[in-house]
Amino acid sequence: MSKLIKGKCLCGDVKYEIENRFEQFYICHCEQCRKITGSAYASNLFGDPRRFNVICGLEKIKRFDHDVRGFTKAFCIVCGSGVPYLNTKGDSIVVPAGTLDGEPNFTQKNIIFHKEKANWSEQNEIDRYFDGFPF
Ligand SMILES: [Zn+2]
Ligand SMILES: [Zn+2]
Repeated sequence: MSKLIKGKCLCGDVKYEIENRFEQFYICHCEQCRKITGSAYASNLFGDPRRFNVICGLEKIKRFDHDVRGFTKAFCIVCGSGVPYLNTKGDSIVVPAGTLDGEPNFTQKNIIFHKEKANWSEQNEIDRYFDGFPF
């Protein structure tokens, strides 16, 4: 049995823990993930529901289910951050990787819906790099 890893939303009202042993890590470029993240792609880890626990803020979590591709998003109603949720099949906890407070251990990392990726998400035409804010 491996260790637990903790995570939280940006405002900290929602906190959770889960076993730090994930089967799959999916970077998804699909249109739905772009919309829901407002960004180039979603980064989700799939973990074991038997070793997942919401430490606090369960009442602050809102869930949205979209019928396209069985797509789901759960988020903190205070700050809007994505938070983990049980997938519709009920066999995995989907953890938005950016909410973790440590380094996840995972078996496989995959890019999915690569054909749908936005052209602007390519990192090869960057004009300048800044270490922080650009001012
Ligand atoms: Zn929050
Ligand atoms: Zn997607």
